[in-house]
Amino acid sequence: MNQDANCIFCRIVRGEIPSNKLHEDENVLAFHDVRPQAPVHFLIIPKEHVATLYDAGTAQQHAFGRMLVLAGELARKAGATDGFRTIINTGKVGHQEVYHVHMHVLGGPEPLGSMLQRKK
Ligand code: AMP
Repeated sequence: MNQDANCIFCRIVRGEIPSNKLHEDENVLAFHDVRPQAPVHFLIIPKEHVATLYDAGTAQQHAFGRMLVLAGELARKAGATDGFRTIINTGKVGHQEVYHVHMHVLGGPEPLGSMLQRKK
């Protein structure tokens, strides 16, 4: 599996940096965001290092599909039962900070707003 020695999310996958995990399987990991922007805010990542959606290909189809399939199940478990937002930021214009693909899942009573506005 492709890994990047210095990538913070690869380091979380390897257990070198602690995370508050929601789910782990062979291909993906889900953990709570360290700076939550909503009452429920977690990230789902592929375990393999893929920097951005620009770098995605058929090799990532399974892991990326798994990320989407897990979103609702994990959102419900985390307490977001009335809906949620999914966001994948890509590149500079997309305000991507961590260059390892991750899907934000934001829910709870007030999941709107801050995530889209905080960097404007
Ligand atoms: P972005 O790349 O802008 O889509 O967002 C990166 C997200 O990763 C931010 O919401 C950060 O709060 C989150 N983040 C960065 N480091 C960690 C970490 N060690 N554990 C959990 N979340 C993190």
